[in-house]
Amino acid sequence: MILVVGGAGYIGSHLVEELVKSHEVVVLDNLSTGHERSVDSRAIFVKGDLGSQEDLETIFSKYPIKGVMHFAANSLVGESVVDPLKYYENNVAATLTLLKVMLKHDVKNFIFSSTAATYGIPDTDIISEKNPTLPINPYGQSKLMVENILSDFASAYDLRYVVLRYFNAAGASSSGKIGEMHDPETHLVPIILQHLLGQREQISVFGDDYDTPDGTCIRDYIHVTDLASAHIAALESLLSEKIQTAIYNLGNGHGYSVKEVINTCEKVTGRKANVVMSERRAGDPARLVASSEKIQQALGWKAERNLDNIIASAWEWHKHIN
Ligand code: UDP
Repeated sequence: MILVVGGAGYIGSHLVEELVKSHEVVVLDNLSTGHERSVDSRAIFVKGDLGSQEDLETIFSKYPIKGVMHFAANSLVGESVVDPLKYYENNVAATLTLLKVMLKHDVKNFIFSSTAATYGIPDTDIISEKNPTLPINPYGQSKLMVENILSDFASAYDLRYVVLRYFNAAGASSSGKIGEMHDPETHLVPIILQHLLGQREQISVFGDDYDTPDGTCIRDYIHVTDLASAHIAALESLLSEKIQTAIYNLGNGHGYSVKEVINTCEKVTGRKANVVMSERRAGDPARLVASSEKIQQALGWKAERNLDNIIASAWEWHKHIN
């Protein structure tokens, strides 16, 4: 049985929908940002806190857990700058509690959701896992701290782990049952689609004076279902003891500017956006594009869906929930 912490959230729920096809799954989520209805009905759902030793003890005593996948974190760069305590408490301290209980119950396989924000402002156009990790915001710091803890725990306690550094997750499941649903929404793709559905007056572009061809920030967008399949490949590599510890980037390898994402949304939906330029957002690097060569070489995984697929699937979801 696999424990998915944060399995009611956006990325966690997409992973669970895939994972239940090959494993028994128990989900722990406090529903602070997730939704119980997003959890696949084939998984066992437990409402509780990953920072609560008591909640964790109950699960580890009751179920034969052989691996843990950890999605439960706060993940907004801007918020982390104004409220770092929340990030270090929820992302670092609570993860330590989870690891402590895991080790007590001799559970040694761990998949950790990390982020491109660990790289800070990269000095290369394409980021590989060899790039230095110099985060420029508390969110990236909190994820890097856990990465370092995992490395020490692997040496000291034989923990086996895979760290997956996501670039920009977007899109929705082809099942039509789950998709991106944050409140408040801050992410670019859902914001554009909500605007095109008439739920927002305009789209604000945060800065058009970056050192990029059209002046807007470039990101690497990856379909959430591709992220899910990477997690399953990583989990299988741990369970089969093919891999002891690893860190992999997860991206498409293609960068799109904010303006290009807006244009693609207009093309896919056939609707016209009202776009206004606004100030830069704190903590935003100009360009974050992944090389995912390493995981392709090691596990044979690569992203199968492009930006058009991402936006088309997200559009179906947003039309359906509204
Ligand atoms: N962005 C924007 N307007 C918005 C939301 C986001 O211009 O209303 C930009 C943001 O500054 C960044 C990119 O879109 O350059 C992706 O932002 P998002 O919040 O989706 O993901 P992040 O890169 O922060 O993980």
